[in-house]
Amino acid sequence: MSKFASFKNKDEKFSIQSAVLPLLNEGEILVKNLCTSICRSDIHTFQGKRIEKSPTILGHEIVGLIQELGPNAPIKDLKGTPLKIGDKITWAIYASSPDDLLSKAAMPQKAKDLFKYGHELITETSHFHGGLSEHTILRKNTPIVVLTPALPDEIASLINCSVSTVAGAIRLAGALNNKSVAVYGTGMLGIIACAMASKMGASDVIAIDENTTRLITSKKFGATETYLPNETLKNKVDIVLEFSGAVLAMQNSINYLKIGGVAIWIGAVFPQPAVQLNAEYIIRNILSIKGLHNYNNEDFINAVNFIEANYSFFDFQSLIKKGFDLDEVQAAFEYASDQNPFRVTIDLS
Ligand SMILES: [Zn+2]
Repeated sequence: MSKFASFKNKDEKFSIQSAVLPLLNEGEILVKNLCTSICRSDIHTFQGKRIEKSPTILGHEIVGLIQELGPNAPIKDLKGTPLKIGDKITWAIYASSPDDLLSKAAMPQKAKDLFKYGHELITETSHFHGGLSEHTILRKNTPIVVLTPALPDEIASLINCSVSTVAGAIRLAGALNNKSVAVYGTGMLGIIACAMASKMGASDVIAIDENTTRLITSKKFGATETYLPNETLKNKVDIVLEFSGAVLAMQNSINYLKIGGVAIWIGAVFPQPAVQLNAEYIIRNILSIKGLHNYNNEDFINAVNFIEANYSFFDFQSLIKKGFDLDEVQAAFEYASDQNPFRVTIDLS
């Protein structure tokens, strides 16, 4: 038997249930979950701002240990490291068909047969697909990377959503060398973006937020300057990474750009009113706007490499509120929703 927290909707509390672990199918891997962090999108679902299929097991920022390899399970991870029982691993939020044209075009997160951990329906035969659970069953075609055992679980759990999404945004922005990079919104993703941009050679890392406490934090993670949203940055930056999802922020992000600049919009993953833009301004200033949802395999590998190289350099632990176990998921979500810390983690070890 294995325990999990079932989520129905914002009006019902999480219910702790258990089910028998099934025999593994072709290509599957059983993972003993170690730690799950509560992503902003989980909180939006908890608050009813997003509606997911339910009942479901929320939580997709997960790290765990390989407990069992199913028949014809993959023998190597994305980096070519052999997979064995006891390995500490992270895996992508998605599993999809590698033969689909979207996978071949480096967008596996949108490809055929898409399955997303932490977003699937609980059925009589399918339970273990979310992080608020003692176990996860990784299905065939799940991108996996083996982690260094020394990496703390709480930091490792951030890799497969927050860090990978930031890596994807930076890929879309292009080389950062000697570029001025603005990071709009300094929640978990924005803080990671400051850290990554500073390590990737940006000349300036400009953090923008209405929360001055978060701006102070951003300076410990590579931000060189901080601004409130109403302070003018007109035509000052080469790249804007927009994580807040606020309409005004997306409009401002265009005005901040120098000629030839690029805005990457990542934050607006909930129902939105339209953004007002002036086409002539975009054309005459040769601006680009790119959207990013989730990330791809290359971003996922880059995220693992960044965290393994820098987890001692940046104090990510200081951003994480620990101490909740699986039976305390309701309290953990209420804390995350009311107190709004950078991250709250569930200890499953
Ligand atoms: Zn997420």
